[in-house]
Amino acid sequence: DPASAPPYLRGLNPPQREAVLATEGPVLVLAGAGTGKTAALTARLAHLVATRLAWPSEILAVTFTNKAAREMKERVGRMLGDAVEGMPWLGTFHAICAKMLRRHAELVGLQSNFTILDTDDQLRLMKQIILAENLDEKRWTARALGGLIDRWKNRGWTPDDVDAGESELFANGRGQQLYRLYQDRLRAVNACDFGDLLLHMLVILKTHRDVLEQYQQRFRYIMVDEYQDTNSAQYLWLRLLAQQRKNICCVGDDDQSIYSWRGAEVANILRFEKDFPGAKIIRLEQNYRSTPHILAAAGGVIAHNGGRLGKELWTEADVGEKVRVIGVWDGPEEARRVGDEIEAYQRRGGRLDDVAILVRAQFQTREFEDRFIAIGLPYRIVGGFRFYERAEIRDALAYLRVIHQPADDLAFERIVNTPKRGLGDKAVAKVHQLARAEGIPLTLAAARILDTDELTAQARRSLGNLVGDIARWRDRLNDLPHAELARQMLDESGYTAMLQAERTAEAAGRLENLTELTRAMEEYETLPAFLEHVSLVMDNDADRESAKVTVMTIHAAKGLEFDTVFLPGWEEGVFPSQRALDEGGIASLEEERRLAYVAITRARRQATILHAANRRIYGQWTSSIPSRFVAELPAEHVESETTMSGGESLWRAQWSEQADPFHDIGRGTGRGPGWQRAAAAGYDPSPRRVVEVRASATSYAAKPRSDIAIGQRVFH
Ligand code: ATP
Ligand code: MG
Repeated sequence: DPASAPPYLRGLNPPQREAVLATEGPVLVLAGAGTGKTAALTARLAHLVATRLAWPSEILAVTFTNKAAREMKERVGRMLGDAVEGMPWLGTFHAICAKMLRRHAELVGLQSNFTILDTDDQLRLMKQIILAENLDEKRWTARALGGLIDRWKNRGWTPDDVDAGESELFANGRGQQLYRLYQDRLRAVNACDFGDLLLHMLVILKTHRDVLEQYQQRFRYIMVDEYQDTNSAQYLWLRLLAQQRKNICCVGDDDQSIYSWRGAEVANILRFEKDFPGAKIIRLEQNYRSTPHILAAAGGVIAHNGGRLGKELWTEADVGEKVRVIGVWDGPEEARRVGDEIEAYQRRGGRLDDVAILVRAQFQTREFEDRFIAIGLPYRIVGGFRFYERAEIRDALAYLRVIHQPADDLAFERIVNTPKRGLGDKAVAKVHQLARAEGIPLTLAAARILDTDELTAQARRSLGNLVGDIARWRDRLNDLPHAELARQMLDESGYTAMLQAERTAEAAGRLENLTELTRAMEEYETLPAFLEHVSLVMDNDADRESAKVTVMTIHAAKGLEFDTVFLPGWEEGVFPSQRALDEGGIASLEEERRLAYVAITRARRQATILHAANRRIYGQWTSSIPSRFVAELPAEHVESETTMSGGESLWRAQWSEQADPFHDIGRGTGRGPGWQRAAAAGYDPSPRRVVEVRASATSYAAKPRSDIAIGQRVFH
């Protein structure tokens, strides 16, 4: 009876309720975008707590971003009419594993205050190893080694697990050895990389029964959002933890798997049923987010993918506007157009917070930033490590790390001569030698070398000052708020002065960023807590309060929704990306298509897709053709407009199912490198599968017929 149902169940449809109430045993919710998977998972969490099936601290809940974790917690609080305290195990895989690993670090040879390296540090370390092994680092790059090691870690492989075939992929079979050296080096500096957070925990759970049992006991209930994007290591970790109680609920959508480049495996969905026999499979089919046109447009695109699990989607929402497709001349016009549209939207009373611009690649954001600054439109850039990636921020963080963790050699290397304090490479090399010879951290070696006569007078004075500074700052850590200490450190080290001396607009911006950094630090009680936060943040969401347009990558937008969404750059070579085209495989193209599906389904009321005829990529102008995904949008749900006469229809014809896109169109358009790239990538113009679009006054369902059989295998 809905009226007497607890508040967190009200407003959920029957299958959603089932997902909430089926607390015991394995449950898999497989459903399309906007069907309320996350909503159901959140209600399930509230239910477990409200009915005392578990204490909040006994629930392991994995979200894809830190922001999603925060939101889930807030929502559960609202559902229960009271803030939920003590949900230590609600967070991303990384955040949860970092927390666990701090408790058990010694089991993998680390100390509990280990540093979590970012990509930059990681690459620097790999480069050192490659050089130390006398390999040609141009041929065998740190980036390539990094990619390979990440892949192994994503599969849950320690160096011992790397077989000869895989090892062969780097430096003539030395991949495994270099992986081992890298891990040893990490241990020596008391650090780990992102992949290690999971891998180390996996190793610990596998090799220490007592630890495993302790967590198996603790976690009465386990749930996972965005399940389609878990990688093997994450899957194995989940399976171990769930093995005893088997109360695990995963929600996901195979059509939204967009992280296979980071090792995610959709196959985990199929594996779930095998590993957890008798799992309850729940389907959700009603979409509560988008209008029928938006849904049908997204459905039409994704229907071109093969091997889907297949599902139906319908909505009761008003039919609304068609998806708009706008062709413009070039990138700047695209940004101008979007800016104009948003201003018009504002004049109609729309809120900026409800608008998002979702890009395929980070480089696309700059043009929008430039334009929005020019017209004074408030915006925020979300995603990646953008803020914390900036050089000045990384320098400041390195200072903080040295204070916090004396063994952090990488941080020390970064600051030893920044700002310039007259320490030459020779002097630094001597410090390194001593550190290696005695097996001590660089900071300690720097102090000891002052007692020798190894250094020139000048180097000795500079290094002496730095060593003295560090000791002094470390002393103050106990007495001063850490944000204040950071300010003093930046001043006393000469870092602030260095930027001030530059007198450029850029340097002024950097100083502002440093101010922003110390402001951010104030939100954290301790320095370690802050550093932990920095290591883990995926989303830069400073000043969440004021209304702003959001600019982010599609990858970062997963799980989110906005009233109005702009999708620029739908051109061959941008989206699908050049990389996907170069790889040429159907798999990478299908992943791009899923990304398109994710992009469109973020919109509640209005979706606008843009493509430019000319685009400057990495400083080169190229003429481009609209994305094949534009042509895959079902025409009856789309309204096209182009600022160039004839261009749009011409291109549409090129990508349509009948036309041969490589046939000479002879009108001087659309024959840029995009065509050749598409041809080189083996674009196959053969007719696509038939898409059936059922339409009634209020509901649409887009469904590729050939998927039904696959769907049955999975669902029944
Ligand atoms: P995605 O696949 O994009 O992650 P999702 O399946 O997780 O989507 P939610 O984000 O949970 O979907 O829900 C989409 C929207 O629908 C949200 O605004 C949510 O509040 C709303 N919603 C979910 N369930 C219901 C319901 N039963 N009745 C009304 N609105 C709902
Ligand atoms: Mg969701």
